[in-house]
Amino acid sequence: MTDRDNTAEDAVAPYIGRFAPSPTGPLHIGSLVAAMASYLDAKVHQGRWLVRIEDVDGDRNVAGADQHILASLQRCGMDWDGEVTWQSRRTDLYEQALRRLGDLVYPCGCSRREIADSQLGLTGRQAQALIYPGTCRHGLAPGKSARALRLKVPQSPHCVIGFDDRWAGHIGQDLTDEAGDFVIKRADGFWAYQLAVVVDDGDQGVTDIVRGADLLDSTPRQLYLQQALGLPRPRYLHVPVVVNALGEKLSKQTGAMAFDNGAPPDQLLQQALLPAARFLGMDVQADTIEGFWRAATPAWAQVLRNLPISR
Ligand code: GLU
Repeated sequence: MTDRDNTAEDAVAPYIGRFAPSPTGPLHIGSLVAAMASYLDAKVHQGRWLVRIEDVDGDRNVAGADQHILASLQRCGMDWDGEVTWQSRRTDLYEQALRRLGDLVYPCGCSRREIADSQLGLTGRQAQALIYPGTCRHGLAPGKSARALRLKVPQSPHCVIGFDDRWAGHIGQDLTDEAGDFVIKRADGFWAYQLAVVVDDGDQGVTDIVRGADLLDSTPRQLYLQQALGLPRPRYLHVPVVVNALGEKLSKQTGAMAFDNGAPPDQLLQQALLPAARFLGMDVQADTIEGFWRAATPAWAQVLRNLPISR
């Protein structure tokens, strides 16, 4: 036996989770659901829970929204581990990753209009997602200058990526047909979400990603990037997204009610925490915020027992 045998650390599999909001506005019931699920999953697995502000998209950031979100998490009693990170302060890491990707990356001179024109005649999902036709794959056409950077996705054979989502079960995507060569640095100079999220999750040692199902479609691109960068694959759990009466994902634009950091604790409990817990399928009774978390942790463990795939 060595000193390291049977230590407390070894008894529990390491777990690092995270909540990664984009600071495009205050927290609302939809983003609170994602925050709550990732927080509780970390608690149930005795793991660490990190918070990372995903502010790479400079055009969509709203001044002060990051601090507002952090204050809301604290008001709800969701304390994070370690320091909060901001993606806008980590661009050196994205540059390094770009260099590691080497020849898989190429400059693209096409405008959105040109890509859309190349898809006339396509229908449904394919057309909506603007699959890149590969125009600049073998070099910029004469007279074009580089706008964005794209990552090559194998064409032949097709690149098919599958993973087991703890909530949604097995998900497969033909990346060649359904995503195509995708942007990792945008024409406006901002790093693309897909690259930044993969680099950060890898760098921060995230083992478990719990987030909204609107990101299920992005996951195969992220798995492909992880492979290309030699990063380990985390586990995934995508919770359903809260929608409005029109079936649209809740956001500021679709009428979500902003989180009120000045509201008294009882109101936060009744109007935010308990409804979010119910949405996640948890049966929680509580009169205080502390009592809520005491009851919610075993309630989440119960939700997990009914999922198709256990951790
Ligand atoms: N920043 C993304 C959002 O707010 C979430 C990204 C993620 O969890 O991977 O929708």
